[in-house]
Amino acid sequence: MKIPFNVPYMSERELEYIKEAHSAGHLSGDGPFTKKCHEWIEKKTGCHKALLTTSCTTALEMTAVLAGVGPGDEVIMPSFTFVTTANAFVLRGAVPVFVDVRSDTLNIDETLVEEAITPKTKAIVPVHYAGVACDMDAITGIAAMNRLTMIEDAAQGVMANYKGQALGAIGRMGTLSFHESKNIICGEGGALLLNDPELAERAEIFWEKGTDRRDFYRKKIEKYTWRDLGSSCLPSDILAAALLSQLEEAEEITRRRFNIWSCYDKAFKNVAPEYGFSTPVIPDECDQNAHIYYLLAPDTDTRTRFMQTLHSAGIDASFHYIPLHSSPGGKRFGRSSGKLPVTSRVADQIVRLPIWIGMEDRLEYVVETAIRAMKR
Ligand SMILES: *Cc1c(COP(=O)(O)O)cnc(C)c1O
Repeated sequence: MKIPFNVPYMSERELEYIKEAHSAGHLSGDGPFTKKCHEWIEKKTGCHKALLTTSCTTALEMTAVLAGVGPGDEVIMPSFTFVTTANAFVLRGAVPVFVDVRSDTLNIDETLVEEAITPKTKAIVPVHYAGVACDMDAITGIAAMNRLTMIEDAAQGVMANYKGQALGAIGRMGTLSFHESKNIICGEGGALLLNDPELAERAEIFWEKGTDRRDFYRKKIEKYTWRDLGSSCLPSDILAAALLSQLEEAEEITRRRFNIWSCYDKAFKNVAPEYGFSTPVIPDECDQNAHIYYLLAPDTDTRTRFMQTLHSAGIDASFHYIPLHSSPGGKRFGRSSGKLPVTSRVADQIVRLPIWIGMEDRLEYVVETAIRAMKR
């Protein structure tokens, strides 16, 4: 039996919509499918304005410009995250300041944020790991008190909520990812969510290569021209077509992933602790989206042995991240706020199990193999 770590989901109308985008003859960005995706995201999340981007990385890079982050500014974030959370700001000359994570949710530890703030701090970037929200009440309060821009890296957070609010729609800005490794996908893609109407105009101009082409499309102006900083941030309408078909199935996709997640959790919740492993903790105020199912092994050696057993049984488990503060880029461009013991420990202990729609008939095999591997 072979069980890959991830198999990208193909939604029912995906090819049909792609064909439609071709026949409509609008292959570049900001076409009819892009507009429908924007409407869907705005309605679903309640954000003021959504803009599809070529990736969540692009969206984060846009937030850095829109927040006015510049050389020497500091941006607070967890070390346990993907590189682009930091790189987006390093590109503007800013310094990422890494804070430790909580041992339950693996999200930034809100109690350590205040001591990381200096007169140079400009923004804070909570990352919602595994689609489980950070303590947003606490972080929102700290950001307001210290006049920091809050940017949510909700790359993993599509269809997840905190106290009923969609992730990405809580901070001044938020970003989503539709990379093939996420829940809702179009290969490579993302979205910028703007919750402050004042940012909308500059965001649209940046998105369209620094021009006012959007106003031209709206027939507000006769010629479009260079107005401000910008880049090519919009995905082709062909990708938007693929994305729309997935967004239309978002409830169903989330429900099916949740069934797999719950099956894992039921099986491991009581058994895992007997062997020193632990299972994810979901606070009451979080509606998660079953993006990741992970176990924490008691130590690195046990993790290595556990993963070897899974791999030799054909099960492709994986782990991430090399903490940013201990990576060459992080050492060169960033700094740590205090020691980050939880981050280092979690990075050594985490194991992610396969979770993808279509693996349901192999789930029992994964569960049985994993329990056997824990017992070793
Ligand atoms: C996947 C991911 C990203 C990057 O998303 P892309 O769409 O691949 O650019 C950024 N941050 C986090 C936390 C992620 O998981």
